[in-house]
Amino acid sequence: MFIGHLPAGYLIGTTLVEKLGVAKDSVNRFLGWCMVGALAPDIDLLYFYLFDQRQHHHHTYFTHYPIVWAGLLAIAFVWFRLTPKKSTAVLAVAFCLNGFVHLLLDSIVGDVWWLMPFIDRPFSLFHIEGRYHPWWLNFILNWSFVLELLLVTAAVWRWRKRSAALRFEET
Ligand SMILES: [Zn+2]
Repeated sequence: MFIGHLPAGYLIGTTLVEKLGVAKDSVNRFLGWCMVGALAPDIDLLYFYLFDQRQHHHHTYFTHYPIVWAGLLAIAFVWFRLTPKKSTAVLAVAFCLNGFVHLLLDSIVGDVWWLMPFIDRPFSLFHIEGRYHPWWLNFILNWSFVLELLLVTAAVWRWRKRSAALRFEET
């Protein structure tokens, strides 16, 4: 997935804001952590380009292991349940949840090593044929890119709706 992660983080964040009843003065911080979490696994692209000389698929790095994000999410959730001060712990849950959703989205048409480090085998829901050059054209000219555009459209729509509601509250 290319452009869908950030809007997905925003959509999840705004949904959770309503469900969890996040305090008004913390909403922007909460949404920020959701969106940073939605992009976080791809931080490994820095290592991929700067140090690994593009030798290994960046989804094979531990930053794209589902067990890492599921583990972090479990720890954050336990912290959230146990701490009397929920405001920081809820940010950790938001961050880790979005990191895990990133892998679900990556797995639609991209390889994700769901069983690493136990089984070294990639899984993806659909496979994209390598027809075009450069490689990223194969993703942009695939039906799955419509899904990414839908995520962007839905996020922009929700952002405009929330902005209008905020303006209405201020008047
Ligand atoms: Zn990724």
